[in-house]
Amino acid sequence: MASTARVDLDGNPIKAMTICMIGAGGFIGSHLCEKLMAETPHKVLAVDVYNDKIKHLLEPSSLPWADRIQFHRINIKNDSRLEGLIKMADLTINLAAICTPADYNTRPLDTIYSNFIDALPVVKYCSENNKRLIHFSTCEVYGKTIGSFLPKDHPLRQDPAYFVLKEDESPCIFGSIEKQRWSYACAKQLIERLIYAEGAENGLEFTIVRPFNWIGPRMDFIPGIDGPSEGVPRVLACFSNNLLRREPLKLVDGGESQRTFIYIKDAIEAVLLMIENPARANDHIFNVGNPNNEVTVRQLAEMMTEVYSKVSGEPSLEVPTVDISSKEFYGEGYDDSDKRIPDMTIINKQLGWDPKTSLWDLLESTLTYQHRTYAEAVKQAISKPLASS
Ligand code: NAD
Ligand code: UDP
Repeated sequence: MASTARVDLDGNPIKAMTICMIGAGGFIGSHLCEKLMAETPHKVLAVDVYNDKIKHLLEPSSLPWADRIQFHRINIKNDSRLEGLIKMADLTINLAAICTPADYNTRPLDTIYSNFIDALPVVKYCSENNKRLIHFSTCEVYGKTIGSFLPKDHPLRQDPAYFVLKEDESPCIFGSIEKQRWSYACAKQLIERLIYAEGAENGLEFTIVRPFNWIGPRMDFIPGIDGPSEGVPRVLACFSNNLLRREPLKLVDGGESQRTFIYIKDAIEAVLLMIENPARANDHIFNVGNPNNEVTVRQLAEMMTEVYSKVSGEPSLEVPTVDISSKEFYGEGYDDSDKRIPDMTIINKQLGWDPKTSLWDLLESTLTYQHRTYAEAVKQAISKPLASS
């Protein structure tokens, strides 16, 4: 239940606000809406082209928060209602984006338009109407680490100065233009620079969030079940799909890249702190990740295989993984970030926030959800062609 005695990090009472949340129907938006409805008195104007992932918050009208969330089916590319909604709100949160790597090199134009051009009016309306903006960027703006350019066995590769990613120090290192994988990172970087400049020159109150591989229930889709059969979601859903179908997990270029994964529920705590502590969050760029949960993609595949076997009760495959080249998996123009360790100094100092959930625990709850939600539908989909023949 929403409490009236809630205070911010400085002990001041938190006033109820209206939030225009663009991209509210996606993975992160759905968890943020859930949190805001269950634990705060804030109102959400939820903007998206889809609402399947927040349906449980919109219906029935007897839900205790029914009068605090309104869904607006709007494509922000071309809808004049957007400015009105931003004007009605105290705060705008922009989550809308094409953000699946399989699209970056195969649909670079859509990726650049979505992550830069379509975000422009949002920034403009916030700036012109003196409204606060929390914009979702990405850890991918860091690109590759400095250490990745050293020989494989060079001792400096072990030096954190060569790989830990810091908001106010690390450079943004992308591949050449033909490597269209970087179209997303580059578009996100440019919108970050624009927002930063609006802050510096026109006084826009902003916070930029750089998520580092947030994962959990409702992320992306399972191909052929609640998304296109040929679609390629992010790694959690790709591997979940393989596990559900009892196929080997595909390791792109040997699965040597490293990632740090954070549980969506930990990350949402950080976003709520930003929402409710503007004086501490404004004018900052925040890494939000879990540096303790680092694995190679191969290790992730092995851990997911073990966890899935535990939660489903099914034995693992004898050969649980298979190697595949990035060209075969993603097509021409793919490239990769080698390693992503977030420096947590700034968010820790400003908001006193730290992630809590271990990789094993977050995979256990997420794969329990995947199994419960999809196992039956996948079984039916697999048996259909046989039944019809
Ligand atoms: P998501 O794809 O689940 O959510 C994005 C939502 O935006 C979708 O519901 C989509 O329908 C909506 N949207 C896209 N274009 C729109 C438009 N023109 N008009 C209206 N709605 C539109 O992705 P997510 O994982 O929830 O990511 C949210 C944000 O966080 C994105 O900006 C993404 O770049 C960033 N991000 C996420 C992660 C992560 O780990 N999940 C990592 C890095 C960056
Ligand atoms: N990946 C993989 N197999 C898959 C899907 C992804 O090996 O089936 C790899 C991908 O090449 C990348 C990592 O997993 O190195 C994470 O991919 P994701 O799609 O989650 O996005 P990213 O972290 O690169 O933004």
